[in-house]
Amino acid sequence: RVKETGKNGYQLFTKNMNEKVQTRVSLERELRRAVQQGEFDLVYQPKVSLSTGRVTGAEALIRWNKDGRIVSPQDFIPVAEETGHIIAIGRFVLNKACEDAVKWHKLGFKDLDVAVNLSARQFRDENLIDSVCGIIDSTGIDPRLLGLEITENTMMEDIQTTIIALAHLVQRGVKISIDDFGTGYSSLSYLKKFPIHVLKVDRQFIKDIPDDTDDIAISTAIINLAKGLNLQVVAEGVETQEQLDFCREHGCDGIQGYFFSRPLSCDAFMELLLSGRTLYQ
Ligand code: C2E
Ligand code: MG
Ligand code: MG
Ligand code: MG
Repeated sequence: RVKETGKNGYQLFTKNMNEKVQTRVSLERELRRAVQQGEFDLVYQPKVSLSTGRVTGAEALIRWNKDGRIVSPQDFIPVAEETGHIIAIGRFVLNKACEDAVKWHKLGFKDLDVAVNLSARQFRDENLIDSVCGIIDSTGIDPRLLGLEITENTMMEDIQTTIIALAHLVQRGVKISIDDFGTGYSSLSYLKKFPIHVLKVDRQFIKDIPDDTDDIAISTAIINLAKGLNLQVVAEGVETQEQLDFCREHGCDGIQGYFFSRPLSCDAFMELLLSGRTLYQ
């Protein structure tokens, strides 16, 4: 293809490469500044129980306020991973999420849990357990109300280390979710070896329900698998009444998604709690 397009094609290609390298270099520099200057914030997406219709907790999702523009985690978490900035960012996220959850508890919502996403490098960090335990102690959060979301690919990277790390975290009382379940490379046989509590059905399998019969089959299978293994199952990305009905009829324990609420600032989430709004009226 380079041959066909000749010299111009080649120049275009290198220009594009240079731009990518430039963007990456500046992103790295900006990430370092962002950590130091506190440009990160968390939003909270409510999680709702399908048996009661009530909010049971929230997932913390990071946002980067970069010069007045919000950058999505998908655009910077991978670079933060590669450069190691994720360690400092992850500590910020865990600490802020626990502090905010303690605020909700003090408001009277004593059973609400908060879930934090851990990326692969954070999960592999040798200081992870100490860091999590330190933050549990300093914020005073009940560890049973702290959840950690880890993808199956992260867990599968080094199975023995995963089992040991998860066992330590679970012993400290935290709950473990497998995030984006069904999109990675996990072998089903490991589900029973990992000490986990929740399977989260990836949005990819929910978004085309009820039109896509393959997705209906896959989601049904994941829900049944979770139930058979005595795990909780939460569907991500529920946007419509039909998707909600599907999840309810098939026995999902909980849902997250725009149908009930987009991710909210901590203040807006507390207003939602105080309003008493539920999924079913
Ligand atoms: P995730 O953990 O699977 O989070 C769910 C994503 O789906 C969030 O995107 C959420 O805003 C979005 N979402 C929820 N409900 C709906 C819906 O009904 N429709 C649609 N279209 N989207 C929905 P977000 O916040 O952009 O986060 C993307 C990913 O970035 C997360 O996927 C997670 O893997 C990662 N991430 C977010 N925050 C953090 C963090 O603090 N640390 C780490 N390591 N990763 C994070
Ligand atoms: Mg998640
Ligand atoms: Mg997810
Ligand atoms: Mg997902």
